[in-house]
Amino acid sequence: MLNKQSLKKKWHTCPSKINFAQFGFFILVFIGSCGNNIKKTSQLKIVSSSSYYKKQIVLNPNFTLLDIKKNIPSIVLDIRYATKNNFSGIAVYKRSQAYARKPVVMALQKIQQSLAKQGLGLKIYDAYRPYRVTVKFWNITPNNKKEFVANPAKGSRHNRGCAVDITLIDLKTGNELAMPTPYDSFLNMAYADYASLPKNVLKNREILQKVMTNNGFKIFKAEWWHFDFEGWEAYDLMDIEFENLEKLNPPPPIAR
Ligand SMILES: [Zn+2]
Repeated sequence: MLNKQSLKKKWHTCPSKINFAQFGFFILVFIGSCGNNIKKTSQLKIVSSSSYYKKQIVLNPNFTLLDIKKNIPSIVLDIRYATKNNFSGIAVYKRSQAYARKPVVMALQKIQQSLAKQGLGLKIYDAYRPYRVTVKFWNITPNNKKEFVANPAKGSRHNRGCAVDITLIDLKTGNELAMPTPYDSFLNMAYADYASLPKNVLKNREILQKVMTNNGFKIFKAEWWHFDFEGWEAYDLMDIEFENLEKLNPPPPIAR
């Protein structure tokens, strides 16, 4: 049976462990390929070129990274990585924004509409995360805490624009519903199936999990707040910052 740490190592979505020698090898390959717009390592392809990305989204509009708030105005953002209020204690994003691939945003829109019927809504802690941030987390984290940061040798589903860290709010008050732990907690209580919790917490977590899984997302077993969009494998790892995404001519918002 997997313990929490080995699960995180296996899933490489949010925090996870990495073998130091493996990372050393990776970074050598990465530095050696930094002159290219599309960085290729023996393991990874990372899109950092705006022009390449623009060509990609013409060929397949589903690759478009859309601003979630612009497309779903009622959604609440609490982008912790744009503040010091996160596990690193450093603001790693310059802007409090949330992007995701078009089908992900369309699914979130359906979810928001469905939740509104119950007087509930979504709050997003994190969505698309540029690859350089995954590397930065690794570099700023002391060795004895490396187990808590994402695995840059594999990349994260957040880097693909196909993962969201999310919770529920009461639409009237804006207050978060009670959940098992705060965001980015590494307690066992953060497990998506942790059972020894108050009834109202179990109910709230179930509402979140059900509405997400009914709309194409899969829960990450070690974190009640993390959901991956099915089919994430088809999307490249990306390293384009929020401000550069905004500078690109955005497509019309998706239909509401
Ligand atoms: Zn996550």
